[in-house]
Amino acid sequence: MDYQKILNEIALEVGALENSGEVADYIPELAKVNADKFGIHLTTMNKEYFASGDSEEKFSIQSISKVFSLAMAFSLLGEKLWRRVGVEPSGNPFNSIVQLEYENGIPRNPFVNAGALVVVDVLLSELKDPEADLFAFVQSLTGSNEISYNKLVAQSEKETGYLNAAFVNMMKAKGNIVNETDEILDFYYKQCSIEMTCRELAAAFLHFGENGMSYEHAGFSLTKSQVKRLNALMLSCGFYDESGQFAFKVGLAGKSGVGGGIAAVYPEEFAVAVWSPKLNKKGNSVRGFHSLELLTTKTESSIF
Ligand code: GLU
Repeated sequence: MDYQKILNEIALEVGALENSGEVADYIPELAKVNADKFGIHLTTMNKEYFASGDSEEKFSIQSISKVFSLAMAFSLLGEKLWRRVGVEPSGNPFNSIVQLEYENGIPRNPFVNAGALVVVDVLLSELKDPEADLFAFVQSLTGSNEISYNKLVAQSEKETGYLNAAFVNMMKAKGNIVNETDEILDFYYKQCSIEMTCRELAAAFLHFGENGMSYEHAGFSLTKSQVKRLNALMLSCGFYDESGQFAFKVGLAGKSGVGGGIAAVYPEEFAVAVWSPKLNKKGNSVRGFHSLELLTTKTESSIF
């Protein structure tokens, strides 16, 4: 497979279309990004690398980080985790609060904000130094010690995150949160503000395409069955309430973020990360989604 030729074609085809959509601006600091950025990086299981565009530029990974924190919490609690967070697509936006009240403070899945906040609560309860562990875990997956978060973005999220505070408080009132609201939010905003390049994200996600992460990453490991479940969740819930469309048109397990990134995995073949800041109405990168649709069409790769 000539992946480099295919990535070059994708960059050309996507670049020729109007750069439609909107940059996320509900977090003011994110709105400062250059909307014309575009990068894509693909790493195969046998460690061949292919890239195009701004694939070496760091960007705000936002909700893609939820996969990393979930992997840690799953490694720590195993099946007990699913008593506190569900595994069903929500059919609602990532920041919808409606479902949470009538489903008794148990979030639909770990990728909606409420679910990711429960996952943070687990990490704060189970770990002595959860922040150090999160960065060590991501650095180990990536094979780089240059992973950090953007303090301005974290602060901007904190200043505007009334809804996230509402999620935590609602869940605390319903008995599904142990730690203090501010502690949970501070950790969550740091996690969302992590900056990575497409290359780093693809390197990290490659491990989710392996036959189980049976070796440890900074003390965390997942069994083959747990990695399968993580991929099942990415496929069914990884793209907000557009997860069905993504499975339908792209057919890869993955996760998007409002920074315009998407990381996806084709188990036992490759991991790919793409970045373009403009989002569609559902919160997914327009060019990112389109690129991955082109990738799986041109390579005829699908997990089905
Ligand atoms: N930090 C963002 C928030 O809490 C994450 C949103 C996302 O990427 O889905 O709203």
